[in-house]
Order: sequence, then C-alpha cells, then structure tokens
Amino acid sequence: MCLFCKIASGEVPANKLLENDAFLAFHDINPRAPIHLLIIPKVHVEKFQDVTGELMAEMTPFIQEVAKKLDLDENGYRLIVNNGRDGGQEIYHLHFHLLGGTRLTWPHFSPEEAKKAI
Ligand code: 5GP
Ligand code: ZN
Repeated sequence: MCLFCKIASGEVPANKLLENDAFLAFHDINPRAPIHLLIIPKVHVEKFQDVTGELMAEMTPFIQEVAKKLDLDENGYRLIVNNGRDGGQEIYHLHFHLLGGTRLTWPHFSPEEAKKAI
C-alpha cells in the first residue's frame, strides 16, 4: 500500500478537512502556501495520466466543495497536479494540490527554464 492509500484507509494519520466514500482532502505536511490541501481519490490511481474521465467527473464537485469549505471560492485558489518524473511527482498516488490564502505568484519557473529543451 502506498502512503496516500494508508492515509485514505486511516492507517497513517492526516489532518483531514473533508471526505466521502470516494475522496479525501487533507492538509499537506509541508505547506507551500497559507492554505495547502491535498485532494485524493481513495482508490489507488498512480497519476493524472491514468485517471478515467468518469473519476475526474466525480472528483470535480468534491474539489469545489473543499474550496467552498475553506472559503476560497470567491477569492480564488490554485490547483496543481504534478504528473510523472518531469512533472516533479514524488508520491505516486494521484493528488491535486489546492493552494490559496494569499495572492500567489506565477509562474514557478524562470524564463531560462522555459527555453531549455530536455
Ligand atoms: P508531489 O510532489 O507528489 O506532487 O507532492 C507530494 C506532497 O505530499 C508534498 O507536497 C508533500 O509535502 C506531501 N506529503 C508527503 N508526505 C506526506 C505525509 O505523510 N502527510 C501529508 N499530509 N503530506 C505529505
Ligand atoms: Zn495509493
């Protein structure tokens, strides 16, 4: 079982905000913004590239509900999915980062980075 499967099952503790049968939102252990949640499906999906449209369709209103619960629906927030090696994914269980609580800067990469080929 991967770390986020263990968090989903309750085997590993997490600071949970919202959950239902299929999804869980909990606070990131190493926040990069005043508000930084991770939103996962309880079923193990490795990465965004593997998720079905059906699961994403169910996940969308859950994410919106999380934002509402955090009172971010009016002022806004950022959703990030790191997908695979080049996306910087560290935990291979699909998760959306929901960041907010401040005016976030953009972009994350330098102009030099944007010109670099792999
Ligand atoms: P990734 O780089 O895979 O997109 O993001 C993984 C995220 O999981 C990181 O932001 C990291 O801080 C968070 N994280 C790693 N281990 C734990 C943990 O045990 N508990 C919680 N709540 N977050 C974790
Ligand atoms: Zn998992």
